[in-house]
Amino acid sequence: MADPTLMDKLVSLAKRRGFIFQSSEIYGGLGSVWDYGPLGVELKNNIKERWWRSMVHERDDIEGLDAAILMHSKVWEASGHVSGFTDPLVDCKVCKNRFRGDDERIKGQPGTPEAQCPICGNRGSLTEPRMFNLMFKTFMGPVEDEASVVYLRPETAQGIYVNYLNVLQASRQKIPFGIAQVGKAFRNEITPGNFIFRTREFEQMEMQYFVKPGEDERWFEEWRGLRMTWHCDLGIKPEKLRFHQHASDELAHYAKVAYDIEYEFPFGWQEFEGIHNRTDFDLTRHQEYSGKKLEYVDTVSRERFIPYVIETSLGTDRLALVVLVDAYREETVEGETRVVLGLAPTIAPIKAGVFPLVKKDGMPEVARRIHDDLRRRLPVFYDDGGSIGRRYRRQDEAGTPFGITVDGQTLEDQTVTVRDRDTLAQERIHTDQVGRYLEDRLRA
Ligand code: ATP
Repeated sequence: MADPTLMDKLVSLAKRRGFIFQSSEIYGGLGSVWDYGPLGVELKNNIKERWWRSMVHERDDIEGLDAAILMHSKVWEASGHVSGFTDPLVDCKVCKNRFRGDDERIKGQPGTPEAQCPICGNRGSLTEPRMFNLMFKTFMGPVEDEASVVYLRPETAQGIYVNYLNVLQASRQKIPFGIAQVGKAFRNEITPGNFIFRTREFEQMEMQYFVKPGEDERWFEEWRGLRMTWHCDLGIKPEKLRFHQHASDELAHYAKVAYDIEYEFPFGWQEFEGIHNRTDFDLTRHQEYSGKKLEYVDTVSRERFIPYVIETSLGTDRLALVVLVDAYREETVEGETRVVLGLAPTIAPIKAGVFPLVKKDGMPEVARRIHDDLRRRLPVFYDDGGSIGRRYRRQDEAGTPFGITVDGQTLEDQTVTVRDRDTLAQERIHTDQVGRYLEDRLRA
């Protein structure tokens, strides 16, 4: 049974332990924008590093890119975002709440007398849906006129398309090949919320895979499988993951086939990664709008074509939420409740806590030495404040997979105990071997 208070507990834990804070909190906060604290930034970096490694470093056929957030405004005309990146916006004239026109809670057609506001319950108070563009608009240079309009990118993908020929030529790749990018995106969402699930500034990890037309369906299936496996390998519970195929009325303007990977959040099944067959839509449009040929020439057959694109688009923040929700548990150990973030060790912000059992008999000095030695290999944390039980609990909440304790026996035989966060099993390891031991466990 899902815990209905889980999101509240998670928001509070995230703040207390320094994972995630509300933006500009001392000014009352900025709506649906979040800042990552000391533990949060480590978690997010680890997630991105893992994605980058599997996409770019472990493959011969994918290259990395880091395109700028600001792009020529014609890019967004070509991509269809200026005309089509809109959501229907509905206001309640009585309670002043604002909804997306497709909000499932709205009964009846907004704008008609029968339609009922899901918040105040009034009938006939909802306005007709107005289309609202989700792109943030700003100006480049000192003059604020139409010619100087620039947008904060609403997706990173376009930076990849406009660089596709540059990367192709510089890397000497041949089709099929891909370009991967991690970066910020901005959407002026009408109804953001659910913590970091839907925000106005977020990060995406996107990969665009360029293939020969006709081979797109095979590659689509390949990527769909690879992405699901990747999430399972991250330790996410497989029973909480599923695919959702977009029906024809859900498909984006550019897509031929689309599947979401969904997670069962406390607020229901929701998408956190999309796999899309974008066909030759984007490159064809950029060729048309830029006047620059974007064809691929097959070096053997001399055949020319605009490649099809299979996209995998994953939200870093949304995945961070999946990971936190999935990892959170409360359990009773020896009559006491403990909160544990059972994060996969590879993405845990801190890999090990180092503790002297008591603050005397030279134990702090030995523990410090072990800590200083380990920190050159791994992110570790030294703590000598409070009872050993409390120090373990603090690391359990932070998701730290291992605890290293220096005790009386350490002073005699140079061994320490290594405590496993999940099984609570303790092993004695020689101090010289601790670094190697942790690295082995982290790799496993
Ligand atoms: P939704 O229907 O939830 O608005 P979408 O279908 O518009 O999402 P895509 O455009 O396919 O989403 O974006 C790909 C991924 O980017 C999403 O799966 C999600 O992980 C992430 N993402 C999109 N919008 C947001 C947002 N406002 N906040 C956080 N992450 C987002």
